[in-house]
Amino acid sequence: MKKNEPILYLVIPCYNEEEMLNITTKELTKKMEQLIKKKLISNDSKVLYVNDGSKDKTWEKIEEAHKHNKIFGGVKLSRNKGHQNALLAGLMTAKKYADITISMDADLQDDINVIDKMLEEYKNGAEIVYGVRSSRKKDTFFKRFTAEGFYKFMKIMGVDIVFNHADCRLMSKTALEGLESFKEVNLFLRGIVPQIGYKTGIAYYERNERVAGESKYPLKEMLKFAWEGISSFSVKPLKMITNVGFIMSMLSFIVLIYALIVKLTGRAVSGWTFIICSIWLVSGIQMLSLGIIGEYIGKIYNETKHRPRYIVEKELID
Ligand code: UDP
Ligand code: MG
Repeated sequence: MKKNEPILYLVIPCYNEEEMLNITTKELTKKMEQLIKKKLISNDSKVLYVNDGSKDKTWEKIEEAHKHNKIFGGVKLSRNKGHQNALLAGLMTAKKYADITISMDADLQDDINVIDKMLEEYKNGAEIVYGVRSSRKKDTFFKRFTAEGFYKFMKIMGVDIVFNHADCRLMSKTALEGLESFKEVNLFLRGIVPQIGYKTGIAYYERNERVAGESKYPLKEMLKFAWEGISSFSVKPLKMITNVGFIMSMLSFIVLIYALIVKLTGRAVSGWTFIICSIWLVSGIQMLSLGIIGEYIGKIYNETKHRPRYIVEKELID
């Protein structure tokens, strides 16, 4: 049964966000008070900042916010572990106290009014609500192009993710328990969350500009992140080797016929036919063999992740 006034924890990873936190804290105080007043969430709800080993005064800012208003809490990681790990640390801490969590970035680029829509979806039965950017009008052309390219490329490479959904999402305690059963170390939450299952919902929002501080995801980081996602979720690159090997082996027969024609029409230098046929055939066999080894590596890779084989939602037994 879903509670009427659930305890909400807003989980916010922060890395070098001292400039941004003054603004974020002010905005979130207003928002949380408003939600509590409207009785949409319990007054035990909190904002949980996760300090991801920042090198500036981010943690001091968090302590300050906590001193002024107990609605703000903090988790301090021992060192910088990256956005995804910081987010997971926050979610797993929040899970102990909260009925639902909503994760958001510290820069409030995600419109905070999406919280209302997410709560609505949660009330309607969703255990996970994905925040999806309805437009990227305010992103630069370059950011939009690379960001949308990222989602399309991931799809092509066989990773099941929600288009234009980053890490702004609501998760209920049930969904968080599901998430906890994924033990992998190479964390790509956008890929894992759809694997959990349960009823899901979508809440659209406008993406705003960053008002202070700078983006921690320039192109280089984005490429790294995309590769992290593909290599942690898909064995498609390995399968591609098998396909190339197969195609090359097939082509080698065409080359064989071509080489024979050249030889029979007397245009070939002595020894050429043998060499050209060998190169194609042997390369094809090699590539195919690599692909076969790759298939086994793919299996090992899937086994080592120890992903849950299933998650039971309900049992109906008398
Ligand atoms: N972040 C983090 N650890 C890192 C890098 C980033 O916790 O190592 C946080 C950062 O403080 C922000 C969120 O991750 O709250 C998203 O980063 P950013 O806004 O820079 O990314 P962008 O919106 O530009 O893609
Ligand atoms: Mg941002």
